[in-house]
Amino acid sequence: MRASLVLVIAIALAGCGDATLASGDGPDRAADAATLDVGTPDPDASPPDTAAPDPDADASPPDPDVSPPDPDASPPDPDAAAPDATPPEPAPPDPAPPEPAPPADDCPRVRVSGTGDDGLNVRPDPSTARPPVGHLAEGAVAAVTGVVEGEAIRGDTTWFAIERGDLAGFVSGVFVACLPPGGPDDDEFLLPLACGSRVRISQGNDGAYSHNGRSRFAFDFSIGLDTPLLAMRAGRVAYRRGDVRPGDRCYSGGGPDCAAEVNYVVVEHADGTQTQYAHMNRVDVDRDERVERGQHLGLSGGTGYSTGPHAHVARQRPCGGPFCESIPLSFADVPGDGVPATGDVVVSANGCP
Ligand SMILES: [Zn+2]
Repeated sequence: MRASLVLVIAIALAGCGDATLASGDGPDRAADAATLDVGTPDPDASPPDTAAPDPDADASPPDPDVSPPDPDASPPDPDAAAPDATPPEPAPPDPAPPEPAPPADDCPRVRVSGTGDDGLNVRPDPSTARPPVGHLAEGAVAAVTGVVEGEAIRGDTTWFAIERGDLAGFVSGVFVACLPPGGPDDDEFLLPLACGSRVRISQGNDGAYSHNGRSRFAFDFSIGLDTPLLAMRAGRVAYRRGDVRPGDRCYSGGGPDCAAEVNYVVVEHADGTQTQYAHMNRVDVDRDERVERGQHLGLSGGTGYSTGPHAHVARQRPCGGPFCESIPLSFADVPGDGVPATGDVVVSANGCP
């Protein structure tokens, strides 16, 4: 997770998407890149804005594609201003984009990563000089049709030729992550949140608050009330409870005596292990129902023994009841070892096209 956090912080400091980078001059850009690469603060000290629980907060920076601050549209940019300012000068024909090399076998698709809420511009050629031809949201997945050298973005000249639906163009390699062929294997777990959701881990494994003993391998996600929860892997609903309702003593913020008064779903997988989703506000699946990975299970809440709305998930071996001793769980959409730590910010690929 450290590398991805550095990237997230770098984005937070630098602005958003590739658009920001077009406004700086060369030396400053190089200096920024050097600073960000070398002098990034420890991820544990990440600024609170990366940990904002609500990714849809109104305070988020405007979309670079539609907002005035888009550097591509700003007058000082000689590339953008030239056609309007010098009408008699016939515009040179658009340079043909370099011929992309075929994609590498291990990178048939990419996922937009590290752009926050702003997403990523898709360009007509591998540079920021011309206006975007489209936009990909954070977490979106696109097919790679080629790899090409282009404008250096933070010292990285790699651009990907991509296709997604009717959209085709180029994206900087700085803001995408390669996905392995075939997507995640069926026996892998993905984060229990909608595609592109960017969420902070409020308590990881061995957490001091409550993830110890039987719950030592659990994860808490910092999310608000009624956030959709998705199945981390396909399976069958082994247990579920959804009758803790508003007005009940243990509906939200209950103490240890509320541990048993909680809404939850437990899904049993093909390998016999189970995953639990706890503190839910609403449960939308029935017992014995078959669920696919990415399928909606219900909405988050703060029922049971809980400080407030969040999602608690853990993997376990069956023990004859809904809550058993936890076992290690790793996520295919979390970089590195797949085990996010307390304070890490993760981006879900669950349910992505
Ligand atoms: Zn927990």
